[in-house]
Formats: sequence, C-alpha cells, structure tokens
Amino acid sequence: MKLTYEAVSDVGRKRKGNEDSVFVNPENKLFVVADGMGGHAAGEVASSIAVDSINEFVCATGGDEEITWPFGLDESISYDGNRLKTAVRFANRKVLEITKEKTEYEGMATTVAAVLVDGATANLAHVGDSRIYLVRAATLSQLTSDHSWVNEQIQSGIISAEQARSHPLRNVVTRALGGRTDLQVDMQSREMEPGDILLLCSDGLTNMLPDDEIGSLVSQAAGDVKRAARDLVDAANARGGEDNITVLLIKFEE
Ligand code: CA
Repeated sequence: MKLTYEAVSDVGRKRKGNEDSVFVNPENKLFVVADGMGGHAAGEVASSIAVDSINEFVCATGGDEEITWPFGLDESISYDGNRLKTAVRFANRKVLEITKEKTEYEGMATTVAAVLVDGATANLAHVGDSRIYLVRAATLSQLTSDHSWVNEQIQSGIISAEQARSHPLRNVVTRALGGRTDLQVDMQSREMEPGDILLLCSDGLTNMLPDDEIGSLVSQAAGDVKRAARDLVDAANARGGEDNITVLLIKFEE
C-alpha cells in the first residue's frame, strides 16, 4: 500500500523545551513517537536515544543477513513484529546504559509508540502512555492501552476517562523505557484497508482533547494528513497546550 504521512512536534504553550521525539524512516516504513521524562535535558535525551536506537535496529535487520536476536525470538509474532519488538527492547537497553553512565541522566525514561509497516500489515509496539489510534470510515478507535496509573484506575472503574485527562497523577506512567532491563513491550498487528489512518501521539494531545474531538478533526481533514496534523496541534494549544504535543499521521492508500 502507498503511505502518506505527516509528523508535527510542538513545544506547546507552557513548557520551555520539547521532550518529545518524532521519527519517520520512509524507506523502512518505520514511524515512532517517544515522550521523554526526567526533567532538564534528560527527557529530550531519553526520547531521542529511543527513536535513534529503534531505527538503528530496524535498519540493521532490514536485509537478509544473519541476525542474532539479543532477547530471543518471539514465535507468536511475525518477523517484522520481532524486528520492532526487539528494536524497542534494544532501545530500552541503550537508555539504561546512558542513565548509568551520566548522573545528570539518572531517572530519565521515555514512552514509545511505534509502527513498522509491511505491505498491508501494520506492526504496532507501545510502552507507556503515548497512543496509537485507528481512524477508519470516520470512526476513531484507540488501539493501545496506556501503561499509566490513571488507566489502571479507569480499568478498575474508579475514575472515568474524562476525569483521567485532568487528574493530578495523569502523567504517572507504569511502564517506560529506562525503567527495568526486562521491559515488556505490547505488540499487535493490524491489517490496514485503503483510506485508513493511523495516528501516533503523545499525551500532550490526549490530555488536552477528548477522543471524539480528535476523531472529528481527523475526519474533517478528509484524508489530508498535513491539515489533520496541524488542526490537532492547533486545537491542543487552543485548549491550553500544557505539555509538548506530538502527532504522527499515516494514511494507507491502494
Ligand atoms: Ca508528555
């Protein structure tokens, strides 16, 4: 399938720096959003190490060369699924290495939402509270489930999604790169249809805008991913822009 995409990362209206990273490798059909944490420059460092390391591993495994899988092979998922899953775990190891080397980076971490496309199949990986949505026939559905404290509360029926978006602990992630060596990466694979749009985003979008507004803005752009990306960022800023806002839209066409 033919892919068109647009990536925008915006500092927002309250933060001094942008700790999000967004990355596209069109040749390998790799798309990544990472949201760094750790204060000062550390968050920026964590998210950029993550996207660089994921790309490094995906590029190194793109040919037909013999590969050593550093964390073993997962038989339950495809080759490309394994490439992406291992790339995220490889990136986790890199973030942890840098954390140990330099005290100013102690405690830094990052989320990852990543897509690796093979034909009509989209392999999805995520860790943390950056999300992947599917927009199909003007309907938005969230494909990933946040690894966050507020999501655990929602799942337990203690708070609503609406309350979660403004909860004081909304930024607490329960899983991130830079946490532990045996990182669990949530994987899934989806068959894409012509006209489908995948949206990868950081919580600077989803804490500002409810899902129905995100869905409307993408649908109103009528397949124009550039316009959709700009409209989403503008809307999140208009609503306060309290965090860095990153959106990456990928449209699938025949
Ligand atoms: Ca964020």
